[in-house]
Amino acid sequence: MKPPPFELLRPESLEEALAALAEHGDDAKPLAGGQSLIPVLNMRLLRPSVLVDLNRIAGLDAIARENGHVRVGALVRQRALERHLDAPALVRGALPFVGHVVTRNRGTVCGSVAHADPAAELPLCLVVLGGSVVVASAVGRREIAADDLFLAHFTTTLQTGELVVESRWPVLDGWGVAFEELAQRHGDYGLSVAAAALRVEDGRVAEARVGIGSVVHRPLLVETALEGETVTSELAREIGERVAAPLELYDNLHAPAEYQRRLTAVLVARAVERAWEQAA
Ligand SMILES: Cc1cc2nc3c(=O)[nH]c(=O)nc-3n(C[C@H](O)[C@H](O)[C@H](O)COP(=O)(O)OP(=O)(O)OC[C@H]3O[C@@H](n4cnc5c(N)ncnc54)[C@H](O)[C@@H]3O)c2cc1C
Repeated sequence: MKPPPFELLRPESLEEALAALAEHGDDAKPLAGGQSLIPVLNMRLLRPSVLVDLNRIAGLDAIARENGHVRVGALVRQRALERHLDAPALVRGALPFVGHVVTRNRGTVCGSVAHADPAAELPLCLVVLGGSVVVASAVGRREIAADDLFLAHFTTTLQTGELVVESRWPVLDGWGVAFEELAQRHGDYGLSVAAAALRVEDGRVAEARVGIGSVVHRPLLVETALEGETVTSELAREIGERVAAPLELYDNLHAPAEYQRRLTAVLVARAVERAWEQAA
């Protein structure tokens, strides 16, 4: 299939890109790696009249570690972060599940975050790590915490004309982290995904951040009440069941609701147990 007709703008600077996005408003879409946007256009799910190609803008492809964060510019490809020594451990564990090497060679980290697919691995990691994005528009800049960014399927709190110029990923040194996913084929979006980050002090959980994706409308932090606990396989299983039990799930083309629930319980339990083993 071919996309509907559009005008392609290829700005050479961020200011030019932001001015184009401001001028064309809701008729314009930024184009980064194109690995989600182009299929969406080909399927005629969106019909923007203008695409603002970010790929000629200099200075948006940096990865830099600073004050416990890794800053990832808007044009950093997923594969570049996967191979970078400063990539936070949770992200390094999740990236091999994101599509295929060829899609990661082109797809950007920030594009995945902005696209906000609830089954996508990177938005879940950003929420679990407590990261953020820096967004710019023709009128200024602001930082949005990951938990305030994602609203629902493919919907964020980004305003018209705003561009994600950077994502910020806490490194969480000393924490144990784990990412778990099951997909029908490697490279497919997961039927369910779970991620956990635990800080352990004196043999007990001091802080816990656990999240799920795919079976929910947005990447979601879940309540585990793990603080003060020593994690055993039995406790991890209990937490998995507790997280999965209230989920509102529907049979879909890929799996019945009860399978999704069981799978989520298992993935959460595995993520919690692996994060604990790593931290302890
Ligand atoms: C075969 C295949 C398998 C895939 N499997 C997976 C998978 O398992 N998991 C997964 O997470 N993804 C998967 N993807 C999607 C892939 O990860 C995309 O690269 C990613 O979702 C979007 O990144 P992009 O740079 O390609 O963005 P684009 O496709 O260029 O843009 C996506 C959306 O984000 C917007 N956007 C892009 N950059 C910005 C920005 N800086 N600021 C504001 N808005 C922006 C665009 O306007 C568009 O709406 C797959 C893709 C393919 C083709």
